[in-house]
Amino acid sequence: MANDTGLPFLHDAPASGFAPAIGEPVGLPFDNSYARLPERFYARLPPTPVAAPRLIKLNTALAAQLGLDAEALASPQGVAVLAGNRIAPGSEPISLAYAGHQFGNFVPQLGDGRAVLLGEIVGPDGLRRDLQLKGSGPTPFSRRGDGRAALGPVLREYIVSEAMAALGIPTTRSLAAVATGEPVMRETALPGAVLTRVASSHIRVGTFQFFAARGDAEALRLLADHVIARHYPDARGAAEPYRALFDRVIARQAELIARWMLVGFIHGVMNTDNCSIAGETIDYGPCAFMDAYNPETVFSSIDHGGRYAYGHQPRIAHWNLARFGETLLPLLAGDTDAALAIANESLGAFQARYAGALIDGMRRKLGLFTAEAGDGALAQDLLNAMAEGEADFTLTFRRLDPELDAGVLPLFKNPDAYDAWAARWRERLAREPQDTASHRAAMRSANPAYIPRNHRVEAALAAAVERDDLAPFEELLKVLALPFEDRAEFAAYAEPPPEDQRVCQTFCGT
Ligand code: AMP
Ligand code: MG
Repeated sequence: MANDTGLPFLHDAPASGFAPAIGEPVGLPFDNSYARLPERFYARLPPTPVAAPRLIKLNTALAAQLGLDAEALASPQGVAVLAGNRIAPGSEPISLAYAGHQFGNFVPQLGDGRAVLLGEIVGPDGLRRDLQLKGSGPTPFSRRGDGRAALGPVLREYIVSEAMAALGIPTTRSLAAVATGEPVMRETALPGAVLTRVASSHIRVGTFQFFAARGDAEALRLLADHVIARHYPDARGAAEPYRALFDRVIARQAELIARWMLVGFIHGVMNTDNCSIAGETIDYGPCAFMDAYNPETVFSSIDHGGRYAYGHQPRIAHWNLARFGETLLPLLAGDTDAALAIANESLGAFQARYAGALIDGMRRKLGLFTAEAGDGALAQDLLNAMAEGEADFTLTFRRLDPELDAGVLPLFKNPDAYDAWAARWRERLAREPQDTASHRAAMRSANPAYIPRNHRVEAALAAAVERDDLAPFEELLKVLALPFEDRAEFAAYAEPPPEDQRVCQTFCGT
């Protein structure tokens, strides 16, 4: 049990000796850089096999992007790999160690309690990505959990992560969903499933916190060097590489959160263990998109205080980055005061970076090609009118038109407020050299028609879970794959929920 960290869980699992693959092996070109880090970074263990794997969905477009053979993945041998019943050659399954602040409280040991990293593959695009099974059975990090995932939350992550990708927002991806043929016990028995998740990496703020909490300076340096080599190679040449790393992580988070805010996305559980060092949206739990604009919107059933409300997300990201900075202090300078000064200076850049990304995005949403000092106030005043008039966030922007108000006016309970704002907007547009068609085209590529509206997501999940009917899930994916392209047959998907279908709460289902 003993190991060099004094913790009991790191070397418990067998280091090797998995059942050899039988039949045609599924060729996955693994190159596992994280598994080459010291053993205290993870626990080695295979996924736990499931009773009756059944492929629910394979993301063939993503498979192609990764250079994987979709047909092989969909074959019984491939599905066995995606279910965790078989270890593909070259795979070195590990569950990653990490810590994290959950709703502000520090937990020194979280870790992959229901996930294994199968390994990393370098795609034809030269990018290295993690292939991870989520819901793959208990691990040394499971605490009291069963290590499993229910089909509903797996499909929710599949839908929303793929929708985010189609919106152009950095995110983990979903390669496959496999039903396990086993029930998972939640409030009731639910069908179980395994998600194959693809990520630039699964390194989180909480990964750094895990080692910082243990005073493991050597591991922190190795982790930071790994992250620099993998995600921020240009930081290596900087005068102060670890400071450059911090600056780059801050910049990516600031830009990511701005992107969320610009589409009305609410993550729901912005704990530091759900904050990706690579700057991707990760760990889709009780996440949701806002319908009517209200910055106080909270969906998550576990977020009682509204800590992770839509409007709090930038502040929370900043808070999470401060926790990241604390872990880097020993790397930033020999002297703590000097290190703190460096970290605080870097952190000070977050607000401007975020605000810059937000206003750039808002200008695009408003069809503006140039920048004027009053643009921030113009955008804010529209949001204020939307909040007061309970206007749908997505539809308002989608229907904004340089000349016509007929589409957008009925969305506002306070049409006068909209009218007053629109007059100012048109004066602003008139000061730009571009013609109306250019403004229109720009706005149509910045303002999605289709987002994964909650009532649609819930309906797709219910059909799959309760009736084994995957048609609504498939259709929703088709709609969300082209979010900026109006398609008459899918017009209803652009609509906000009718009163009786409004979803006010989402559940992470763990
Ligand atoms: P999450 O809320 O999904 O970000 O998970 C927070 C922590 O709880 C992570 O360490 C997860 O691995 C762990 N966890 C969540 N669900 C389960 C489960 N069903 N079994 C074991 N661990 C879990
Ligand atoms: Mg998590």
